[in-house]
Amino acid sequence: MIDSAGPGQLQPRQVLAQYWGYHTFRPHQESIITDILAGRDVLALLPTGAGKSLCYQLPALIQGKTILVISPLIALMEDQVLQLEALGIPATFINSTLRPADQRLRLQQAIEGHFRLLYVAPERAVLPEFMAQLRRIPLGGFVVDEAHCVSEWGHDFRPEYRQIATLRAQFSQLPLAAFTATATERVRQDIITNLGLSQPAIHVASFARPNLAYEVRPKARPRDAFPDLCALLQELDGPGILYCGTRKQVDELTEQLNRHRQTCLAYHAGMTDEERRSNQRAWLQDEARIMVATVAFGMGINKPDVRWVIHWTIPKNLEAYYQESGRAGRDGDPARCILYYSTSDLALLRRFMADKPEDQQAIAKRQLNHMVYYTQSHECRRVLQLAYFGEQGVPCGLCDNCLHPPRLEDWTIEAQKFLSCVYRTGQAWGARHVINVLVGHLTQPITNLGHDRLSTWGIGRDKTVEQWKALAGHLVGLGMLDMDIPIPKLRLCEGSWPVLRGQRQVMLAMSARTGSRRTQAPQTAVDPELWQRLRTWRKQVATDQGVPPYAIFPDATLRAIVNRRPRTLADLGQITGVGRYKLTRYGSGLLAEINRQA
Ligand code: ADP
Ligand code: ZN
Repeated sequence: MIDSAGPGQLQPRQVLAQYWGYHTFRPHQESIITDILAGRDVLALLPTGAGKSLCYQLPALIQGKTILVISPLIALMEDQVLQLEALGIPATFINSTLRPADQRLRLQQAIEGHFRLLYVAPERAVLPEFMAQLRRIPLGGFVVDEAHCVSEWGHDFRPEYRQIATLRAQFSQLPLAAFTATATERVRQDIITNLGLSQPAIHVASFARPNLAYEVRPKARPRDAFPDLCALLQELDGPGILYCGTRKQVDELTEQLNRHRQTCLAYHAGMTDEERRSNQRAWLQDEARIMVATVAFGMGINKPDVRWVIHWTIPKNLEAYYQESGRAGRDGDPARCILYYSTSDLALLRRFMADKPEDQQAIAKRQLNHMVYYTQSHECRRVLQLAYFGEQGVPCGLCDNCLHPPRLEDWTIEAQKFLSCVYRTGQAWGARHVINVLVGHLTQPITNLGHDRLSTWGIGRDKTVEQWKALAGHLVGLGMLDMDIPIPKLRLCEGSWPVLRGQRQVMLAMSARTGSRRTQAPQTAVDPELWQRLRTWRKQVATDQGVPPYAIFPDATLRAIVNRRPRTLADLGQITGVGRYKLTRYGSGLLAEINRQA
């Protein structure tokens, strides 16, 4: 198609500059666009923030035809359409939120070739009546967004996605491009098979997220870690998500934070639709900074300028952690991902698993062990995450382990002492009692039970209580010791024996990561006063138009404007993210704001 382009037809780079105001393609974008324009089926696996949407939006502009985008969520469709409109690209969605008359009107406009992008849900796309109407629309191709929904092995399986193959078969002359940010091989195969892709061009990007700085913090007891969380929230700049494991935790933490003057909103499936909608809107509009949520707050979240994601509870596997923490920093600006780790959360998750059928239990346990290994390991966090997807990464230089490599000590002997002490005290006690015995305390239970006469009494005096606690957490975390729930009694398990027999070494990271744990310096604008002023301007414009601030200009563009201080429209038009449409629409207002006091 590119070859047959007439003299007046634009090249991808020109379209990129004109509409988006971007001057270079991100990795894979250009080759995906070329494949789509050549009429090939495409499977593109690109991480969040890689710029997937542009890959299919741009070809529609060059073809001058309509691309039908199948998208799983109303929120996603609306967000995309809103951002396209903000760029001056004709786009719309047809979904159940519209009155029938509006649906008919939009369909009629689509038939007249009004739109470059048309978004619908999979259920609608496969209705025979809708397919019949599609034949009258000047279509250039199909796109399946969030294509992992077609796979039971993905995290958001949607049975309706399977029916897309019918559509595919009916319009076999048109190309279909499938996009996802899920990297596993199994999901990849499912997409090709279940969507009926024919000899697709496959594009797989690195799943490294270069702008994310990962960090793990201990949460020995929530009560003790809460001040740390408050301090962290103070330190963090910009909007973010604080994930909790359960609805109850969301409610409790929200209340607790609000009591400590940390203004935050909550989101979970137990709230009314109205509450959820209103909280989500306030957060999207930057009216509230902190969203405390369960993972129900997830896939529809397209906000590109999420600056941090905190996990207050450990996720059940590394893939979930990658996806959830990956909601930070879509816009490519630096963002932080912090995971709080505690042995009691872990024990709770293991307890939930016990209710599952046995085969699932085995998988879930293995996955959870991987997750725990991630928290306990001294390797680069990014390398550990990528390894899970079978990708070999290089140390990121941003994570806690890269910035403050922990000192490792061989604690095998101590681990043996600890495990024997658990055994000798009858596998009926929590860590505190076991440690009291080890360090030779004479507490009431110890004297009553005669535990001061055990061979392990006092054999651990050379270490502090804190150090023994860290060891206990490590042993439970890596499956060398079991902990009961809700009463945290310690028991030996299968994994204890190799340690006791001296077949497994126990290496403990000793250097407490104290002092400044900041994993990354935030990006700053040279003139904080102007930066604030432009943010206020952006917020006002966004509110007037009923769109989120990021749809006006992303942070990176706003920062470039502050740093370059353009004097003329021509200067402003040179800045990345300022396309022609936005220049016409906001240019003079923005220049006036910049020069207001200067
Ligand atoms: P994904 O769907 O892959 O998570 P998006 O399509 O939402 O990513 O794009 C993420 C951000 O990157 C958006 O703000 C988008 O405008 C921006 N972006 C995409 N392509 C480019 C590019 N070539 N240059 C600069 N920014 C880009
Ligand atoms: Zn690292």
